[in-house]
Amino acid sequence: MLTFQLQKEDTRSVQELQREIRRLAEEKKAVILAHYYQRPEVQEIADFVGDSLELSRKAAQTDAEIIVFCGVRFMCETAKILNPTRKVLHPNPESGCPMADMITPQQVMALKEKHPDAMVVSYVNTTAEVKAVSDVCVTSANAIKVVQKLPARKIIFVPDQALGNWVKRHVPDKEFIIWQGFCPPHFEFTAREVKKLKEKYPDAPVAVHPECHQEVIDMADFVGSTSQIVQFATTCPAQRVIVITEVGLKHTLMKKNPNKEYIFPDSMNYCGSVYCCTMKAITLEKVYTTLRDEINEVTLPEEIIERAVIPIRRMLELT
Ligand code: SF4
Repeated sequence: MLTFQLQKEDTRSVQELQREIRRLAEEKKAVILAHYYQRPEVQEIADFVGDSLELSRKAAQTDAEIIVFCGVRFMCETAKILNPTRKVLHPNPESGCPMADMITPQQVMALKEKHPDAMVVSYVNTTAEVKAVSDVCVTSANAIKVVQKLPARKIIFVPDQALGNWVKRHVPDKEFIIWQGFCPPHFEFTAREVKKLKEKYPDAPVAVHPECHQEVIDMADFVGSTSQIVQFATTCPAQRVIVITEVGLKHTLMKKNPNKEYIFPDSMNYCGSVYCCTMKAITLEKVYTTLRDEINEVTLPEEIIERAVIPIRRMLELT
């Protein structure tokens, strides 16, 4: 079953909490941003729900005094970097991204020293410190386009090996040095499991996120970021679609087009199902207390903000 443990409140108290959060947001002129992988009840109270790129753009453009970011730490940092005069609040400061923590700025510097002619391309799923030593950032939605436009022939790609290999396939004229990081939830999906689903639902096209294993990507009819999967799955002619990404996306898919069936795999990860544990650690209660008391503010050294904004802006310009 593709379900995860929701909060313990009954339906009524969930609704009350949601109303109270929205009231506070209006009162404090706060904007609430939520990633697609957030719990459904958290997505419901957000002003905007989207993927990393869409939320980065919203964070950069907002004139709200407070940004409550329901996502993982690197996303909150990106919001702060792009709009440093705003107060960015993270409802659960412990929610980091395991993949982002798989590389340090020191490791990037060592790669740069070894390959001085290469440009460092970092997935936005990196810490602010890693961004600060990168040449350009990418998301899974724009990585191919950005790398194609770079003047360097040699690319250091960090930290996701799956996305790096996916880009390498599409940009064959460049040389790649790819860091061996990975997204634990997306690496849980196996080709065997996808094959079984394809046999069970032969009429359903398969949409896969590029953070998955290469052999899973090879079985896809469509490969794209979460927002690109939303577009494909909700508008393609097929009545049902096999979706190989984090299960939180199901909520958006059902909202955008409830007339279709979205089939997610049943595989289990270290949290008990294929979902991102750190994303799901953000609950309505945490959003409520964070906004009410204006706690869990995201702060970064000025020097890091000044350096990390350069590769993010470069990405936004190139796309
Ligand atoms: S889904 Fe993967 S990449 Fe995204 S926050 Fe979770 S661990 Fe990080």
